[in-house]
Amino acid sequence: MNQQSEKPGYLRVSPRHLGQMRLATFCPSCFWYAIALGFRYPFDMPMPGIMHNLDKFEKLLVEAYFNKHGKAPKWLSQLGCTGPVDFPEKMTEDISNLGITLVGMPDGVFKKKDGSLCVVDYKTAKHKGEDDPFLPAYQTQLQGYARLLEHYEIGQVTSAALVYFQNDLSSYAAKPLDLLTDTGITVPFTVEIHNIELDPKAIDELLKKFRKFADLPAPPEGSEKCKTCQRLDRLFQVEHRLLSTQKIIKDFENCDTARMHWILNRKEASRRSSLVLESRGWEAELDELLVQDLDSVPGSLDL
Ligand code: SF4
Repeated sequence: MNQQSEKPGYLRVSPRHLGQMRLATFCPSCFWYAIALGFRYPFDMPMPGIMHNLDKFEKLLVEAYFNKHGKAPKWLSQLGCTGPVDFPEKMTEDISNLGITLVGMPDGVFKKKDGSLCVVDYKTAKHKGEDDPFLPAYQTQLQGYARLLEHYEIGQVTSAALVYFQNDLSSYAAKPLDLLTDTGITVPFTVEIHNIELDPKAIDELLKKFRKFADLPAPPEGSEKCKTCQRLDRLFQVEHRLLSTQKIIKDFENCDTARMHWILNRKEASRRSSLVLESRGWEAELDELLVQDLDSVPGSLDL
């Protein structure tokens, strides 16, 4: 067993990130870039404060109930848990044959009557059952936590579940004043449990697949469902043409300064307009602008 070690040169990955490979919207190209960036995306936004607080509160609530009553809250009782189990705040496993460090932190781990463990993940979201498009990723998340708990010899994990805290505000649309209190409002939540089947082999396969992605020398093709990369390529082409044109114009700047400035200003206006065009059909409009610009360059500077 190897605890808390993060070997140099090893790739770090969480079960949550491994789960992305199982989503219907998965894009191999995006994932390749994400691995290269260590899953620290540019322009990434932290979780909104309210969600972070709710997440924390859900864990505290369950623990406080167990401490006070010595049993699970009614809505959690179907899991057959007898009490919470301590586990390290962050668990890691170095997988030497793949050069990967698996990193994870479950929301809650409980002991069951037979001594085995149940691992749970709290979701502040509407329970959509089997229709939830993120379900395959959630399954992987829990499977990964189960693996780490066993790696740390905390116990044998025999069951897993998603615990959904879903707000019921929509049922109060016709009677919003019912939620009013002297100091503000009370938002009602109900809890639903979704049991997850554990499949230890699935995580092994995903770890191997992850290593293969990481070893690719260049990004694979993007998802057919997403056209953003194609649009970006097109944008870069347009930008490249504009920059080349500007460079040629600059080279001739000494010939006729006033005329050169006029051309440069036109190019700049064209470039700026590209930023505000609607994404639908913007390529054609940009092409049109470029053709107009090039047509309007004085004959003596036919580019
Ligand atoms: S195709 Fe879409 S999802 Fe894939 S890398 Fe490009 S922008 Fe990202």
